[in-house]
Amino acid sequence: MSFGKIIIFSAPSGAGKSTLVQHLLKCNLDLEFSISATSRKPRGNEVDGVDYYYFTSEEFKNKIANNELLEYEEVYLGCFYGSLRSEIDRISLAKKNIVFDVDVIGGLNIKNEFSDRALSIFVAPPSIEVLNHRLINRGTDSPEMIKKRIDKANFEMTFSPKFDLVIVNDDLDIAKAEAEKAIRNFLKN
Ligand code: ADP
Repeated sequence: MSFGKIIIFSAPSGAGKSTLVQHLLKCNLDLEFSISATSRKPRGNEVDGVDYYYFTSEEFKNKIANNELLEYEEVYLGCFYGSLRSEIDRISLAKKNIVFDVDVIGGLNIKNEFSDRALSIFVAPPSIEVLNHRLINRGTDSPEMIKKRIDKANFEMTFSPKFDLVIVNDDLDIAKAEAEKAIRNFLKN
């Protein structure tokens, strides 16, 4: 199987992307997660270079200016999140394939840049109603936050046709099998 290939996952929050990616990392596909960079401070037991790469806003802005980020987002003023280009080299050198977990716009930009070296996968909920229930059941977000996520999901869903593959995460086992099959097929060549 090849290495140095790129698998991009994008999804509305709550669609089940983390659940799927965590499963795929255990499937002997030689996948490794791209660790994101952020300018927010570490929380709790978070470790630099494990959970995130931590930078100050100044450092982060310099990296943007030096084209060291594949994609990034300024979530609010001075608070950045993004993917470092150096992750591709780090993971390729380890003879692994790179998994990116990014928002839809970032995902499409990475796909555009790497074309056939990348497989872009959009994880969709069966419906907005189901997504709403999953967010409520997950129990990590306030009702206001859930409303925001649902509004954003409606916008994000409009980009799904631009991805190489859309996986509707209805039955989790079927979604896992579909993702695994598509990735094996992509890594075969
Ligand atoms: P994301 O990473 O896309 O935000 P999560 O992986 O956190 O989403 O999943 C959101 C919630 O939905 C979690 O509580 C998860 O256990 C649940 N979930 C994921 N996939 C399914 C599924 N196919 N059916 C039912 N619940 C699911």
